[in-house]
Amino acid sequence: MLLPIFAFAPLRFHDSIGFVILDPSVLRDRLIRWADQNSGSGHLAGLAAMLDLLEASFSAFPEVDIERMPCAGTQAEALRIRFRPEAARQVLLSGHYDTVYGADHPFQRCELVDERTLRGPGVTDMKGGLVVMHAALGLYLQSNPRHTLGLELLLTPDEETGSFGSGALIAEAAKRHQLGLVFEPARPNGSLVQSRKGTGNFVVTCHGRAGHAAKAPSDARNAIAALAEYLVAAHRLPAEMPGILLNVGLIRGGSEATNVVPDFAQALLDVRITRAADREAVLSRLNELAAPINAREGLRIEISGSFNRPPKECGPAEEAAFAVYQECGRELGLAPFSWIHAGGGSDGNLLSAAGLPNLDGLGVIGDHLHSDREYCVVPSLVERAQLCELFLKRIAEGKLILPQSSKR
Ligand SMILES: [Zn+2]
Repeated sequence: MLLPIFAFAPLRFHDSIGFVILDPSVLRDRLIRWADQNSGSGHLAGLAAMLDLLEASFSAFPEVDIERMPCAGTQAEALRIRFRPEAARQVLLSGHYDTVYGADHPFQRCELVDERTLRGPGVTDMKGGLVVMHAALGLYLQSNPRHTLGLELLLTPDEETGSFGSGALIAEAAKRHQLGLVFEPARPNGSLVQSRKGTGNFVVTCHGRAGHAAKAPSDARNAIAALAEYLVAAHRLPAEMPGILLNVGLIRGGSEATNVVPDFAQALLDVRITRAADREAVLSRLNELAAPINAREGLRIEISGSFNRPPKECGPAEEAAFAVYQECGRELGLAPFSWIHAGGGSDGNLLSAAGLPNLDGLGVIGDHLHSDREYCVVPSLVERAQLCELFLKRIAEGKLILPQSSKR
């Protein structure tokens, strides 16, 4: 029988304080508490305070092991929550607790715009997703699950800056699981994320030769002019190569003394690819574009950088998991949803690269991420938690055959 989403009997699970009821206002208020706590990726004290909040909330569940995990190259820690690590089937739930809003960003507090709409820093990306994970785990534990399914939740502090510290933890966790669930936001129409572009950051440096601007003829070589020529050509790459995105994000060079021919200029590029196979083609094209400039006497363009997240491509395991997920949505009477290709990367890319099939975009519904207009759809907190819990139950029942993990 299908129940309207808010008509189900209050679900309770026991915690150390008393009984927690999964109702929309409880989840909403938890989200407000978590989003009001600043945890910008570079704000160590905020990240530590957020970690405390998460640890306290997850500690309320019996039967789970909680551990803080160091992340290489940073003082921030990840939180790992495990349930039945010995079970035959293992699913990894992945989330991040950092946001793009630093301690000095003007956007610091939640505002309930109306009953259904909560605006606030990170409410969708992805503290809403963390609330969904927390509630889904609580529901799953309460439902007295079979012993066939173990879960691990990995909450990391640096996704928004490329997961450089937590990448090794994510890759290592991927090897111990058969399916990953990533709680990045769902799209405003409820769609999940089927695939994601791979992302790379590149630095293009142009060396010229300094000289007086008034000297003619001159042997000076203007690095800014040469770099500009390169960037105009590079900016055409997306038109030339389908599935590629390239953004010139920053340029620097020259000085206030405009009578000096500048010998240095530099640009930072954000490059995105759709297929892993695009990687080499893009790199060689970026180098080719520098060749005509490098052939000129006195000028040299150097390109450094790399792709930090390979593309998340969609395979048969994802197709099968998504079909079951959709079926769970229908069982719950949720509005139909699909899945789409996204330009932005997530830790789902890293899980894919480590060989773990994963479903992404299982978090809350919302929009305008990374801006002071970020909002989430409040009822989607409960809906997505129930959906996740039902999906986990279906896995435990064997309704979805999980692929073999590469290492147990
Ligand atoms: Zn995110």
